[in-house]
Amino acid sequence: MSQENEHVQCLIIGSGPAGYTAAIYAARADLKPIMYTGMQAGGQLTQTTDVENFPGYPQGIMGPEMMEDFRKQAERFGTDIRFGYVSSVDFSSAPHKVVVDEIKTITADTVIIATGATAKWLGLPSEQQYNGFGVSACAVCDGFFFKGQDVAIVGAGDTAAEEATYLAKLCKTVHLLVRRDEFRASKAMVSRVLATPNIVVHYNTETREILGNGKNVTAVKVINNKTSEEIDIAVEGFFVAIGHKPNTDIFKGQLDMDETGYLLTKPGSTLTNIEGVFACGDVQDMYYRQAVTAAGSGCMAALDAERYLAAKEHAVEA
Ligand code: NDP
Repeated sequence: MSQENEHVQCLIIGSGPAGYTAAIYAARADLKPIMYTGMQAGGQLTQTTDVENFPGYPQGIMGPEMMEDFRKQAERFGTDIRFGYVSSVDFSSAPHKVVVDEIKTITADTVIIATGATAKWLGLPSEQQYNGFGVSACAVCDGFFFKGQDVAIVGAGDTAAEEATYLAKLCKTVHLLVRRDEFRASKAMVSRVLATPNIVVHYNTETREILGNGKNVTAVKVINNKTSEEIDIAVEGFFVAIGHKPNTDIFKGQLDMDETGYLLTKPGSTLTNIEGVFACGDVQDMYYRQAVTAAGSGCMAALDAERYLAAKEHAVEA
């Protein structure tokens, strides 16, 4: 394989809504972006079914199809989209160095990081079997499909508490499965959960299996880890809210991040602590985590990169 170096004005890492939107803007600004897709081209949305909350699709669209549309739009303006993963980076001096697939080094004037975050799963085979068919890791995305129905949600942090409250507005009953005898979530969030009449909290409860009829979820088998009692709770939807892991391992020691690994950006911008390196989408957003917010911040990253390059050019001319 080729080992020659390549230099680009704008390198985009990651191919979810943030990366593709950054690519559309960067390509239209003639930055001639190169994008490396990562191992899961299209990102988290390629693992979902219907997307009904992305503006512009009045009838909704399947997640993989939507990401295909994003890709085509980025390509239409000349983004060079390549399948490959970034194995290491060196942001210690300009231009920034990025190693792809462990062999190819690319230098870049600007780097836009859109590597996203990965939802944590329980690791049960049935969870994967019914993923998109009753199992989801995003209540805001998929709660609507369970209007008036019974659902369960596992987790005890702020996300689980917030999503349980959100689901309670749509669903008949929300069974909140907490593995210990207490929440991790903040007191205010827990009070809200406990004050919501259609949320039933099951403490000391672990999920054994998600049960279904081959097509859809029908129940969840849980065990009380104090009494060893096993019961099946009839539900149509099963939500996992046990946290996310931002995909930032390769940036450790180079970019500022919080204690859980989310990249830190200057408020109101996509600027990281390194000049010419920008971050957008879920990799820097533990709070909203929506396709549309990721896309919005992808646009911001491309504009920030373009302005950074223009300022550098003017400084040279002056
Ligand atoms: P957290 O890491 O805070 O919580 C994860 C929860 O999942 C924990 O309660 C943990 O249980 C539980 N859990 C982990 N693995 C399993 C498992 N295998 N089975 C059952 N339960 C499991 O993640 P969050 O996504 O809730 O929050 C991430 C960050 O985002 C936090 O800092 C949070 O404060 C913040 N946030 C803030 C919000 C707000 O302010 N409105 C809203 C959402 C998030 P255990 O407690 O037993 O370890």
